[in-house]
Amino acid sequence: MKSPSFFLRILLFVGLWLTLTSFSTAARFSTVVIDAGHGGKDKGALWGGIRESTLNLKVAKELEGRLKKRGIRTVMTRRSDVFISLRSRANVANRYRDAVFVSIHFNASHNRGIKGTETYYWGNQGRILAGAIQRRLPARLKTSNRGIHRRGLAVLLHTRCPAVLVECGFMSNSRERGRCATAWYQQTAAGAIYDALMAYR
Ligand SMILES: [Zn+2]
Repeated sequence: MKSPSFFLRILLFVGLWLTLTSFSTAARFSTVVIDAGHGGKDKGALWGGIRESTLNLKVAKELEGRLKKRGIRTVMTRRSDVFISLRSRANVANRYRDAVFVSIHFNASHNRGIKGTETYYWGNQGRILAGAIQRRLPARLKTSNRGIHRRGLAVLLHTRCPAVLVECGFMSNSRERGRCATAWYQQTAAGAIYDALMAYR
């Protein structure tokens, strides 16, 4: 029979270990690099006369506004309808220490019935942030939760900081496309991503 002090010491050790690991994995970032997908000659998905590149920029600017209000440094990979290569987008993020990279997109599928949001990541920190986003985004937008997926997309592979790519809704679904084009949808998407970033932090 072990003495109670033995168990006490084990408990103390476990407590100390949990405290230390929670500190070491705390996601401290000072800069959010916001990447509005596509732009210029690359319009992205094009459905019902609406360009994905335009929707991406609207959500990106909404997110930028929220973060700035909170005093967090933001960097936009583009602020207008211009083409920027995938490598350049990642390079922007790689110029900053303690950054996180959030790429904003809208989705499309041959199956026009599909709707919802999904978030891609590559690294482990990206997975945590992607989870925080997906826990909020589809519920607030009142659409389907298509989950998080590990995928080797160029902007995720070439960024050294935690990085995610958020697909905010399906433009190929006519009902969802109509919703995506509204200010409410774009502001709600940006708000959910902002709250996820704050929770991740
Ligand atoms: Zn896209």
